[in-house]
Amino acid sequence: MHPNRRLFLAGSAAAAATAVLPGCATPGAAAVPAADRAAVPQPFFVQQARQKLLPRGKAPRIVICGGGWGGVTVAQNLRKTAPQAEVVLLERNPVFFSSPLSNLWLVDLAPTQFLTHDYLTVSERHGWRFFQAEVTQVDRARRLVHTSLGQLDYDWLILAPGIRYHYEAWFGNDRAAADATRQRFPSAYASNAEHWGIKRALHEFKGGEWVMNLPPPPQRCPPSPYERACMIAWHFKKHGIKARLTILDHKPDITPIGPGYHAAFRELYKDIITYVPNAHVQEVDPFNKRIRTSAGDMRFDHAVLMAPHQAGDLAWQADAIGLTPQGQATGWADIDPLKLHLRHDDRCYVIGDAIGRVSNLPFGFYPKSAHVANRLGRIVAYFIGERIAGRTPGTRLPDNLCYMAVNGDPAEAINVQFDYKLNDQGQIVQQQIDFNERSARLFKDDFLWAGHMFHEMFGTPKPA
Ligand SMILES: Cc1cc2nc3c(=O)[nH]c(=O)nc-3n(C[C@H](O)[C@H](O)[C@H](O)COP(=O)(O)OP(=O)(O)OC[C@H]3O[C@@H](n4cnc5c(N)ncnc54)[C@H](O)[C@@H]3O)c2cc1C
Repeated sequence: MHPNRRLFLAGSAAAAATAVLPGCATPGAAAVPAADRAAVPQPFFVQQARQKLLPRGKAPRIVICGGGWGGVTVAQNLRKTAPQAEVVLLERNPVFFSSPLSNLWLVDLAPTQFLTHDYLTVSERHGWRFFQAEVTQVDRARRLVHTSLGQLDYDWLILAPGIRYHYEAWFGNDRAAADATRQRFPSAYASNAEHWGIKRALHEFKGGEWVMNLPPPPQRCPPSPYERACMIAWHFKKHGIKARLTILDHKPDITPIGPGYHAAFRELYKDIITYVPNAHVQEVDPFNKRIRTSAGDMRFDHAVLMAPHQAGDLAWQADAIGLTPQGQATGWADIDPLKLHLRHDDRCYVIGDAIGRVSNLPFGFYPKSAHVANRLGRIVAYFIGERIAGRTPGTRLPDNLCYMAVNGDPAEAINVQFDYKLNDQGQIVQQQIDFNERSARLFKDDFLWAGHMFHEMFGTPKPA
Protein backbone atom coordinates (compact mmCIF):
# COMPACT_ATOMS: atom_id res chain seq x y z
CA MET A 1 0.00 0.00 0.00
CA HIS A 2 1.23 3.55 -0.76
CA PRO A 3 2.57 5.14 2.51
CA ASN A 4 0.49 8.29 2.02
CA ARG A 5 -2.66 6.23 1.66
CA ARG A 6 -1.92 4.28 4.84
CA LEU A 7 -1.39 7.57 6.69
CA PHE A 8 -4.64 8.92 5.27
CA LEU A 9 -6.59 5.82 6.44
CA ALA A 10 -5.07 5.97 9.91
CA GLY A 11 -5.90 9.66 10.06
CA SER A 12 -9.51 9.17 9.00
CA ALA A 13 -10.00 6.28 11.43
CA ALA A 14 -8.74 8.45 14.27
CA ALA A 15 -10.94 11.30 13.10
CA ALA A 16 -13.95 9.00 12.91
CA ALA A 17 -13.23 7.62 16.39
CA THR A 18 -13.00 11.13 17.80
CA ALA A 19 -16.17 12.12 16.01
CA VAL A 20 -18.22 9.28 17.52
CA LEU A 21 -16.82 9.47 21.05
CA PRO A 22 -19.26 12.07 22.35
CA GLY A 23 -22.11 9.76 21.26
CA CYS A 24 -20.97 6.89 23.51
CA ALA A 25 -23.26 6.05 26.42
CA THR A 26 -20.87 7.46 29.04
CA PRO A 27 -22.67 8.75 32.13
CA GLY A 28 -22.96 12.48 31.91
CA ALA A 29 -21.89 12.63 28.21
CA ALA A 30 -23.90 15.06 26.08
CA ALA A 31 -26.07 13.47 23.35
CA VAL A 32 -25.01 14.27 19.78
CA PRO A 33 -27.76 16.05 17.84
CA ALA A 34 -29.17 13.98 14.95
CA ALA A 35 -27.99 16.52 12.37
CA ASP A 36 -24.35 16.14 13.57
CA ARG A 37 -24.64 12.34 13.60
CA ALA A 38 -25.58 12.38 9.91
CA ALA A 39 -22.29 14.14 9.22
CA VAL A 40 -20.19 11.40 10.91
CA PRO A 41 -18.22 9.83 8.06
CA GLN A 42 -18.72 6.09 7.61
CA PRO A 43 -15.58 3.98 7.98
CA PHE A 44 -14.23 3.02 4.58
CA PHE A 45 -15.13 -0.69 4.69
CA VAL A 46 -18.60 -0.18 6.14
CA GLN A 47 -19.86 1.17 2.83
CA GLN A 48 -21.48 -0.90 0.06
CA ALA A 49 -18.87 -3.17 -1.57
CA ARG A 50 -18.14 -1.60 -4.95
CA GLN A 51 -15.18 -3.67 -6.07
CA LYS A 52 -15.56 -6.29 -8.79
CA LEU A 53 -16.13 -9.74 -7.37
CA LEU A 54 -14.31 -11.44 -10.25
CA PRO A 55 -12.12 -10.24 -13.13
CA ARG A 56 -13.76 -10.58 -16.53
CA GLY A 57 -12.44 -13.29 -18.85
CA LYS A 58 -13.48 -14.07 -22.44
CA ALA A 59 -15.98 -16.78 -21.55
CA PRO A 60 -19.67 -15.85 -21.40
CA ARG A 61 -20.63 -15.36 -17.77
CA ILE A 62 -23.80 -16.86 -16.28
CA VAL A 63 -24.72 -15.58 -12.81
CA ILE A 64 -27.22 -17.54 -10.70
CA CYS A 65 -28.82 -15.73 -7.75
CA GLY A 66 -30.04 -18.21 -5.14
CA GLY A 67 -28.59 -21.65 -4.45
CA GLY A 68 -31.66 -23.67 -3.51
CA TRP A 69 -33.19 -26.50 -5.52
CA GLY A 70 -33.43 -24.54 -8.76
CA GLY A 71 -30.11 -22.68 -8.47
CA VAL A 72 -27.88 -25.68 -7.72
CA THR A 73 -29.55 -27.80 -10.40
CA VAL A 74 -29.01 -25.18 -13.08
CA ALA A 75 -25.36 -24.65 -12.00
CA GLN A 76 -24.59 -28.36 -12.27
CA ASN A 77 -26.38 -28.82 -15.59
CA LEU A 78 -24.77 -25.74 -17.19
CA ARG A 79 -21.37 -27.44 -16.87
CA LYS A 80 -22.70 -29.98 -19.38
CA THR A 81 -24.87 -27.78 -21.63
CA ALA A 82 -22.55 -24.73 -21.76
CA PRO A 83 -19.07 -26.05 -20.84
CA GLN A 84 -17.38 -22.95 -22.29
CA ALA A 85 -19.28 -20.59 -19.94
CA GLU A 86 -18.18 -19.27 -16.55
CA VAL A 87 -20.90 -20.19 -14.02
CA VAL A 88 -21.16 -18.27 -10.74
CA LEU A 89 -23.65 -19.09 -7.97
CA LEU A 90 -24.49 -16.48 -5.30
CA GLU A 91 -26.14 -17.74 -2.13
CA ARG A 92 -26.49 -16.22 1.34
CA ASN A 93 -26.21 -19.51 3.26
CA PRO A 94 -22.93 -21.43 3.66
CA VAL A 95 -24.67 -24.80 3.37
CA PHE A 96 -27.76 -26.18 1.67
CA PHE A 97 -30.54 -27.60 3.85
CA SER A 98 -33.39 -29.49 2.18
CA SER A 99 -36.99 -28.53 2.94
CA PRO A 100 -38.23 -31.79 1.36
CA LEU A 101 -37.95 -34.42 4.11
CA SER A 102 -37.61 -31.66 6.73
CA ASN A 103 -41.00 -32.63 8.19
CA LEU A 104 -39.53 -36.08 8.85
CA TRP A 105 -36.35 -34.50 10.24
CA LEU A 106 -38.54 -32.53 12.73
CA VAL A 107 -39.52 -35.83 14.37
CA ASP A 108 -36.14 -37.54 13.91
CA LEU A 109 -37.18 -39.75 10.99
CA ALA A 110 -34.57 -38.24 8.63
CA PRO A 111 -30.95 -37.51 9.61
CA THR A 112 -29.50 -33.97 9.43
CA GLN A 113 -26.49 -35.05 7.34
CA PHE A 114 -28.75 -36.49 4.61
CA LEU A 115 -30.43 -33.09 4.18
CA THR A 116 -27.35 -30.88 4.46
CA HIS A 117 -24.83 -30.24 1.67
CA ASP A 118 -21.74 -28.09 1.40
CA TYR A 119 -21.66 -25.64 -1.54
CA LEU A 120 -17.93 -24.97 -1.65
CA THR A 121 -16.74 -28.57 -1.95
CA VAL A 122 -19.37 -29.31 -4.59
CA SER A 123 -18.66 -26.19 -6.65
CA GLU A 124 -14.91 -26.86 -6.63
CA ARG A 125 -15.42 -30.46 -7.67
CA HIS A 126 -17.82 -29.58 -10.48
CA GLY A 127 -16.18 -26.48 -11.92
CA TRP A 128 -18.56 -23.63 -11.04
CA ARG A 129 -17.85 -20.74 -8.68
CA PHE A 130 -19.68 -20.32 -5.38
CA PHE A 131 -19.78 -17.12 -3.36
CA GLN A 132 -21.52 -17.00 -0.01
CA ALA A 133 -22.97 -13.52 -0.45
CA GLU A 134 -26.21 -11.60 -0.06
CA VAL A 135 -27.47 -10.29 -3.39
CA THR A 136 -28.54 -6.76 -2.57
CA GLN A 137 -29.63 -5.34 -5.94
CA VAL A 138 -29.93 -6.34 -9.59
CA ASP A 139 -29.41 -3.72 -12.29
CA ARG A 140 -30.71 -5.46 -15.39
CA ALA A 141 -30.23 -2.40 -17.63
CA ARG A 142 -26.46 -2.55 -16.93
CA ARG A 143 -26.38 -6.36 -16.51
CA LEU A 144 -24.89 -5.93 -13.06
CA VAL A 145 -25.53 -7.76 -9.79
CA HIS A 146 -24.66 -6.05 -6.48
CA THR A 147 -23.74 -8.28 -3.57
CA SER A 148 -22.45 -7.94 -0.03
CA LEU A 149 -19.00 -8.93 -1.38
CA GLY A 150 -18.88 -6.77 -4.52
CA GLN A 151 -20.34 -6.37 -8.00
CA LEU A 152 -20.57 -8.87 -10.79
CA ASP A 153 -21.49 -8.26 -14.42
CA TYR A 154 -23.15 -10.97 -16.45
CA ASP A 155 -24.16 -12.07 -19.93
CA TRP A 156 -26.96 -14.32 -18.66
CA LEU A 157 -28.77 -14.01 -15.36
CA ILE A 158 -30.80 -16.67 -13.57
CA LEU A 159 -32.97 -15.66 -10.62
CA ALA A 160 -33.81 -18.55 -8.27
CA PRO A 161 -34.72 -16.74 -5.02
CA GLY A 162 -37.59 -18.93 -3.80
CA ILE A 163 -40.34 -17.18 -1.82
CA ARG A 164 -40.96 -14.47 0.76
CA TYR A 165 -43.68 -14.11 3.39
CA HIS A 166 -46.22 -11.43 2.50
CA TYR A 167 -46.65 -10.28 6.12
CA GLU A 168 -47.99 -6.96 4.85
CA ALA A 169 -51.26 -8.78 4.01
CA TRP A 170 -51.72 -9.49 7.73
CA PHE A 171 -50.05 -6.57 9.46
CA GLY A 172 -49.85 -3.67 6.98
CA ASN A 173 -46.77 -1.73 8.04
CA ASP A 174 -46.81 -3.00 11.67
CA ARG A 175 -43.27 -4.33 11.61
CA ALA A 176 -43.26 -5.25 15.31
CA ALA A 177 -46.18 -7.68 14.89
CA ALA A 178 -44.62 -9.20 11.76
CA ASP A 179 -41.24 -9.63 13.48
CA ALA A 180 -42.85 -11.13 16.59
CA THR A 181 -44.82 -13.60 14.45
CA ARG A 182 -41.76 -14.65 12.51
CA GLN A 183 -39.59 -15.03 15.60
CA ARG A 184 -42.07 -16.74 17.91
CA PHE A 185 -44.22 -18.75 15.51
CA PRO A 186 -42.14 -19.34 12.35
CA SER A 187 -43.47 -21.50 9.55
CA ALA A 188 -40.09 -22.55 8.06
CA TYR A 189 -41.32 -22.11 4.52
CA ALA A 190 -38.95 -19.33 3.38
CA SER A 191 -35.94 -19.61 5.62
CA ASN A 192 -33.85 -22.63 6.54
CA ALA A 193 -32.95 -21.30 9.99
CA GLU A 194 -36.62 -21.45 10.98
CA HIS A 195 -36.67 -25.25 10.75
CA TRP A 196 -34.52 -25.36 13.90
CA GLY A 197 -37.01 -23.05 15.64
CA ILE A 198 -39.92 -25.38 14.94
CA LYS A 199 -37.96 -28.46 15.94
CA ARG A 200 -36.98 -26.86 19.25
CA ALA A 201 -40.55 -25.72 19.93
CA LEU A 202 -41.90 -29.19 19.16
CA HIS A 203 -39.42 -31.01 21.35
CA GLU A 204 -40.05 -28.60 24.23
CA PHE A 205 -43.87 -28.67 23.84
CA LYS A 206 -45.51 -30.08 26.97
CA GLY A 207 -49.09 -30.17 25.63
CA GLY A 208 -52.07 -27.95 24.84
CA GLU A 209 -53.30 -26.29 21.63
CA TRP A 210 -51.02 -26.29 18.58
CA VAL A 211 -52.38 -24.35 15.58
CA MET A 212 -51.24 -24.31 11.96
CA ASN A 213 -52.69 -22.10 9.26
CA LEU A 214 -52.42 -22.57 5.50
CA PRO A 215 -52.26 -19.51 3.25
CA PRO A 216 -54.30 -18.96 0.07
CA PRO A 217 -52.88 -20.47 -3.13
CA PRO A 218 -50.46 -20.23 -4.83
CA GLN A 219 -48.22 -21.37 -1.99
CA ARG A 220 -44.97 -23.31 -1.66
CA CYS A 221 -45.51 -27.09 -1.71
CA PRO A 222 -49.29 -27.26 -1.06
CA PRO A 223 -49.38 -30.85 0.34
CA SER A 224 -46.47 -30.39 2.76
CA PRO A 225 -48.27 -28.58 5.64
CA TYR A 226 -50.60 -31.59 6.02
CA GLU A 227 -47.53 -33.85 6.05
CA ARG A 228 -46.13 -31.66 8.82
CA ALA A 229 -49.42 -31.95 10.72
CA CYS A 230 -49.26 -35.75 10.47
CA MET A 231 -45.64 -35.86 11.66
CA ILE A 232 -46.35 -33.54 14.61
CA ALA A 233 -49.45 -35.55 15.56
CA TRP A 234 -47.43 -38.77 15.32
CA HIS A 235 -44.82 -37.21 17.64
CA PHE A 236 -47.56 -36.27 20.18
CA LYS A 237 -48.94 -39.80 19.99
CA LYS A 238 -45.54 -41.49 20.30
CA HIS A 239 -44.50 -39.43 23.33
CA GLY A 240 -47.92 -39.44 25.02
CA ILE A 241 -48.16 -35.62 24.85
CA LYS A 242 -51.69 -34.41 25.57
CA ALA A 243 -52.14 -31.98 22.73
CA ARG A 244 -54.53 -31.02 19.96
CA LEU A 245 -53.46 -29.81 16.54
CA THR A 246 -55.86 -27.61 14.57
CA ILE A 247 -55.28 -26.99 10.86
CA LEU A 248 -56.85 -23.71 9.71
CA ASP A 249 -56.97 -24.07 5.93
CA HIS A 250 -57.77 -21.15 3.64
CA LYS A 251 -59.00 -23.62 1.00
CA PRO A 252 -62.41 -25.34 0.99
CA ASP A 253 -60.70 -28.77 1.17
CA ILE A 254 -57.34 -30.53 1.15
CA THR A 255 -55.71 -30.75 -2.24
CA PRO A 256 -53.82 -32.61 -3.70
CA ILE A 257 -54.12 -36.15 -2.20
CA GLY A 258 -57.07 -35.02 -0.07
CA PRO A 259 -58.60 -38.50 0.48
CA GLY A 260 -55.20 -39.87 1.59
CA TYR A 261 -54.79 -37.12 4.16
CA HIS A 262 -58.39 -37.28 5.39
CA ALA A 263 -57.97 -41.05 5.90
CA ALA A 264 -54.76 -40.47 7.90
CA PHE A 265 -56.40 -37.78 10.07
CA ARG A 266 -59.42 -40.02 10.70
CA GLU A 267 -57.68 -43.38 11.13
CA LEU A 268 -54.39 -42.39 12.80
CA TYR A 269 -54.92 -39.04 14.55
CA LYS A 270 -58.66 -38.87 15.31
CA ASP A 271 -58.20 -37.46 18.82
CA ILE A 272 -55.41 -35.11 17.85
CA ILE A 273 -56.00 -33.40 14.48
CA THR A 274 -58.94 -31.12 13.72
CA TYR A 275 -59.19 -29.94 10.14
CA VAL A 276 -61.01 -26.61 9.56
CA PRO A 277 -61.62 -25.61 5.90
CA ASN A 278 -62.45 -22.09 4.63
CA ALA A 279 -60.53 -20.50 7.49
CA HIS A 280 -59.48 -17.15 6.03
CA VAL A 281 -57.14 -15.33 8.39
CA GLN A 282 -58.58 -12.00 9.57
CA GLU A 283 -56.35 -11.08 12.46
CA VAL A 284 -53.18 -12.48 14.03
CA ASP A 285 -52.04 -11.48 17.51
CA PRO A 286 -48.63 -13.06 18.23
CA PHE A 287 -48.37 -11.27 21.60
CA ASN A 288 -51.57 -12.76 23.06
CA LYS A 289 -51.40 -16.00 21.03
CA ARG A 290 -54.68 -15.54 19.20
CA ILE A 291 -55.79 -15.96 15.61
CA ARG A 292 -59.13 -14.82 14.16
CA THR A 293 -60.42 -16.46 10.97
CA SER A 294 -63.64 -16.53 8.97
CA ALA A 295 -64.23 -20.03 10.43
CA GLY A 296 -63.80 -18.92 14.07
CA ASP A 297 -61.27 -17.60 16.59
CA MET A 298 -58.60 -19.62 18.37
CA ARG A 299 -56.23 -19.25 21.27
CA PHE A 300 -53.05 -21.33 21.02
CA ASP A 301 -50.10 -22.47 23.11
CA HIS A 302 -47.92 -22.78 20.04
CA ALA A 303 -48.53 -22.13 16.36
CA VAL A 304 -46.98 -22.41 12.91
CA LEU A 305 -48.21 -19.18 11.33
CA MET A 306 -47.90 -18.93 7.57
CA ALA A 307 -48.45 -15.54 5.94
CA PRO A 308 -49.33 -15.62 2.21
CA HIS A 309 -46.43 -16.44 -0.13
CA GLN A 310 -44.89 -14.31 -2.87
CA ALA A 311 -41.76 -14.46 -5.04
CA GLY A 312 -38.57 -13.89 -3.00
CA ASP A 313 -37.39 -10.33 -2.26
CA LEU A 314 -34.75 -10.60 -4.96
CA ALA A 315 -37.36 -10.91 -7.71
CA TRP A 316 -38.80 -7.57 -6.49
CA GLN A 317 -35.35 -5.97 -6.33
CA ALA A 318 -34.70 -7.14 -9.91
CA ASP A 319 -37.98 -5.53 -11.06
CA ALA A 320 -39.15 -8.94 -12.25
CA ILE A 321 -42.66 -8.93 -10.73
CA GLY A 322 -45.68 -8.98 -13.04
CA LEU A 323 -48.61 -6.56 -12.99
CA THR A 324 -52.33 -7.23 -13.20
CA PRO A 325 -54.35 -5.40 -15.88
CA GLN A 326 -55.26 -2.96 -13.06
CA GLY A 327 -51.57 -2.23 -12.43
CA GLN A 328 -51.31 -4.19 -9.14
CA ALA A 329 -48.26 -6.39 -8.44
CA THR A 330 -49.09 -10.07 -9.03
CA GLY A 331 -46.46 -11.05 -6.46
CA TRP A 332 -44.75 -13.45 -8.90
CA ALA A 333 -42.12 -13.11 -11.64
CA ASP A 334 -43.50 -12.21 -15.05
CA ILE A 335 -42.02 -14.91 -17.27
CA ASP A 336 -42.75 -16.23 -20.74
CA PRO A 337 -44.20 -19.65 -19.75
CA LEU A 338 -42.47 -21.56 -22.57
CA LYS A 339 -39.14 -19.74 -22.65
CA LEU A 340 -38.81 -19.11 -18.87
CA HIS A 341 -37.10 -15.73 -19.24
CA LEU A 342 -38.74 -12.45 -18.26
CA ARG A 343 -41.23 -11.28 -20.86
CA HIS A 344 -39.34 -8.02 -21.27
CA ASP A 345 -35.74 -9.29 -20.83
CA ASP A 346 -34.59 -12.43 -22.66
CA ARG A 347 -31.21 -12.43 -20.82
CA CYS A 348 -32.86 -12.90 -17.42
CA TYR A 349 -34.34 -16.32 -16.63
CA VAL A 350 -36.38 -17.15 -13.51
CA ILE A 351 -36.73 -20.68 -12.12
CA GLY A 352 -38.36 -22.37 -9.15
CA ASP A 353 -41.08 -21.12 -6.85
CA ALA A 354 -40.68 -17.44 -7.83
CA ILE A 355 -42.26 -17.84 -11.28
CA GLY A 356 -45.71 -16.55 -12.07
CA ARG A 357 -48.67 -17.98 -13.94
CA VAL A 358 -47.83 -20.39 -16.77
CA SER A 359 -51.31 -21.17 -18.09
CA ASN A 360 -54.70 -19.52 -18.45
CA LEU A 361 -56.34 -22.81 -17.46
CA PRO A 362 -57.66 -23.04 -13.88
CA PHE A 363 -54.50 -24.63 -12.37
CA GLY A 364 -52.59 -21.50 -13.50
CA PHE A 365 -49.25 -22.14 -11.77
CA TYR A 366 -46.80 -25.03 -11.73
CA PRO A 367 -46.73 -26.57 -8.23
CA LYS A 368 -44.13 -24.69 -6.21
CA SER A 369 -42.05 -27.75 -5.47
CA ALA A 370 -38.40 -28.83 -5.35
CA HIS A 371 -39.10 -31.32 -8.13
CA VAL A 372 -40.41 -28.59 -10.46
CA ALA A 373 -37.52 -26.25 -9.46
CA ASN A 374 -35.09 -29.05 -10.40
CA ARG A 375 -36.82 -29.64 -13.74
CA LEU A 376 -36.91 -25.90 -14.56
CA GLY A 377 -33.20 -25.72 -13.66
CA ARG A 378 -32.46 -28.50 -16.16
CA ILE A 379 -34.59 -26.84 -18.83
CA VAL A 380 -33.00 -23.40 -18.44
CA ALA A 381 -29.51 -24.97 -18.58
CA TYR A 382 -30.53 -26.50 -21.90
CA PHE A 383 -32.05 -23.20 -23.17
CA ILE A 384 -28.95 -21.14 -22.36
CA GLY A 385 -26.59 -23.81 -23.76
CA GLU A 386 -28.49 -23.79 -27.05
CA ARG A 387 -28.57 -20.01 -27.29
CA ILE A 388 -24.85 -19.66 -26.55
CA ALA A 389 -24.24 -22.21 -29.33
CA GLY A 390 -26.36 -20.05 -31.69
CA ARG A 391 -29.25 -22.51 -31.90
CA THR A 392 -32.95 -22.00 -31.14
CA PRO A 393 -33.98 -24.22 -28.21
CA GLY A 394 -36.98 -26.52 -28.55
CA THR A 395 -39.93 -26.61 -26.15
CA ARG A 396 -39.46 -28.47 -22.87
CA LEU A 397 -41.95 -28.77 -20.00
CA PRO A 398 -41.41 -29.99 -16.42
CA ASP A 399 -43.17 -32.74 -14.49
CA ASN A 400 -43.79 -32.98 -10.74
CA LEU A 401 -43.60 -35.73 -8.14
CA CYS A 402 -44.18 -35.35 -4.38
CA TYR A 403 -44.07 -37.99 -1.66
CA MET A 404 -45.75 -37.06 1.62
CA ALA A 405 -45.26 -39.03 4.85
CA VAL A 406 -48.40 -39.60 6.93
CA ASN A 407 -47.23 -42.08 9.56
CA GLY A 408 -44.00 -42.70 11.46
CA ASP A 409 -44.61 -46.21 12.81
CA PRO A 410 -45.10 -48.01 10.53
CA ALA A 411 -43.45 -45.47 8.24
CA GLU A 412 -45.94 -44.76 5.43
CA ALA A 413 -46.46 -42.13 2.74
CA ILE A 414 -48.84 -41.10 -0.04
CA ASN A 415 -47.90 -39.44 -3.32
CA VAL A 416 -48.96 -37.18 -6.21
CA GLN A 417 -47.66 -36.79 -9.77
CA PHE A 418 -48.28 -34.06 -12.33
CA ASP A 419 -47.56 -34.11 -16.06
CA TYR A 420 -47.66 -31.19 -18.48
CA LYS A 421 -48.17 -30.94 -22.22
CA LEU A 422 -49.24 -28.35 -24.79
CA ASN A 423 -52.78 -28.47 -26.20
CA ASP A 424 -53.82 -27.48 -29.74
CA GLN A 425 -54.14 -23.83 -28.67
CA GLY A 426 -50.56 -23.81 -27.35
CA GLN A 427 -51.70 -23.71 -23.70
CA ILE A 428 -49.91 -25.71 -21.00
CA VAL A 429 -52.27 -28.45 -19.76
CA GLN A 430 -51.87 -30.26 -16.41
CA GLN A 431 -52.66 -33.88 -15.60
CA GLN A 432 -52.74 -34.88 -11.92
CA ILE A 433 -52.53 -38.42 -10.52
CA ASP A 434 -53.07 -38.93 -6.77
CA PHE A 435 -51.95 -42.08 -4.87
CA ASN A 436 -54.07 -41.87 -1.73
CA GLU A 437 -53.35 -45.29 -0.28
CA ARG A 438 -50.58 -44.97 2.28
CA SER A 439 -47.77 -47.50 2.02
CA ALA A 440 -44.29 -48.32 3.30
CA ARG A 441 -43.07 -48.49 -0.30
CA LEU A 442 -43.94 -44.82 -0.95
CA PHE A 443 -42.13 -43.82 2.26
CA LYS A 444 -38.97 -45.59 1.00
CA ASP A 445 -39.43 -44.04 -2.44
CA ASP A 446 -39.38 -40.57 -0.84
CA PHE A 447 -35.79 -41.19 0.35
CA LEU A 448 -34.88 -42.68 -3.03
CA TRP A 449 -36.29 -39.61 -4.81
CA ALA A 450 -34.25 -37.29 -2.57
CA GLY A 451 -31.14 -39.47 -3.00
CA HIS A 452 -31.38 -39.17 -6.79
CA MET A 453 -31.89 -35.41 -6.53
CA PHE A 454 -28.85 -34.98 -4.25
CA HIS A 455 -26.81 -37.14 -6.63
CA GLU A 456 -27.66 -34.78 -9.50
CA MET A 457 -27.22 -31.58 -7.48
CA PHE A 458 -24.29 -32.42 -5.19
CA GLY A 459 -22.65 -35.49 -6.72
CA THR A 460 -23.49 -37.70 -3.69
CA PRO A 461 -23.45 -41.48 -4.40
CA LYS A 462 -26.34 -42.65 -6.57
CA PRO A 463 -28.89 -44.54 -4.44
CA ALA A 464 -29.07 -48.27 -5.20
C1 LIG B 1 -41.68 -28.12 4.88
C2 LIG B 1 -41.49 -28.24 3.40
C3 LIG B 1 -41.57 -29.47 2.78
C4 LIG B 1 -41.41 -29.58 1.40
N1 LIG B 1 -41.49 -30.83 0.82
C5 LIG B 1 -41.28 -30.94 -0.50
C6 LIG B 1 -41.29 -32.24 -1.12
O1 LIG B 1 -41.44 -33.28 -0.45
N2 LIG B 1 -41.11 -32.31 -2.46
C7 LIG B 1 -40.91 -31.20 -3.22
O2 LIG B 1 -40.74 -31.33 -4.44
N3 LIG B 1 -40.90 -29.95 -2.66
C8 LIG B 1 -41.07 -29.80 -1.34
N4 LIG B 1 -41.02 -28.55 -0.75
C9 LIG B 1 -40.91 -27.35 -1.60
C10 LIG B 1 -39.47 -27.02 -1.97
O3 LIG B 1 -38.65 -26.88 -0.85
C11 LIG B 1 -39.44 -25.71 -2.77
O4 LIG B 1 -40.41 -25.78 -3.78
C12 LIG B 1 -38.07 -25.52 -3.39
O5 LIG B 1 -37.13 -25.27 -2.36
C13 LIG B 1 -38.07 -24.39 -4.42
O6 LIG B 1 -36.79 -24.21 -4.94
P1 LIG B 1 -36.26 -22.74 -5.31
O7 LIG B 1 -34.92 -22.95 -5.91
O8 LIG B 1 -37.28 -22.00 -6.06
O9 LIG B 1 -36.14 -22.00 -3.90
P2 LIG B 1 -35.23 -22.35 -2.65
O10 LIG B 1 -34.90 -23.81 -2.62
O11 LIG B 1 -35.90 -21.75 -1.47
O12 LIG B 1 -33.89 -21.56 -2.94
C14 LIG B 1 -33.81 -20.17 -2.91
C15 LIG B 1 -32.42 -19.81 -2.43
O13 LIG B 1 -32.15 -18.44 -2.72
C16 LIG B 1 -31.42 -17.89 -1.63
N5 LIG B 1 -31.61 -16.45 -1.66
C17 LIG B 1 -32.78 -15.78 -1.72
N6 LIG B 1 -32.56 -14.45 -1.76
C18 LIG B 1 -31.21 -14.28 -1.74
C19 LIG B 1 -30.37 -13.13 -1.75
N7 LIG B 1 -30.87 -11.89 -1.79
N8 LIG B 1 -29.03 -13.31 -1.71
C20 LIG B 1 -28.50 -14.58 -1.65
N9 LIG B 1 -29.25 -15.69 -1.64
C21 LIG B 1 -30.60 -15.54 -1.69
C22 LIG B 1 -32.02 -18.58 -0.41
O14 LIG B 1 -31.14 -18.54 0.69
C23 LIG B 1 -32.26 -19.99 -0.93
O15 LIG B 1 -31.16 -20.86 -0.66
C24 LIG B 1 -41.17 -28.42 0.62
C25 LIG B 1 -41.07 -27.17 1.25
C26 LIG B 1 -41.22 -27.07 2.62
C27 LIG B 1 -41.06 -25.72 3.28
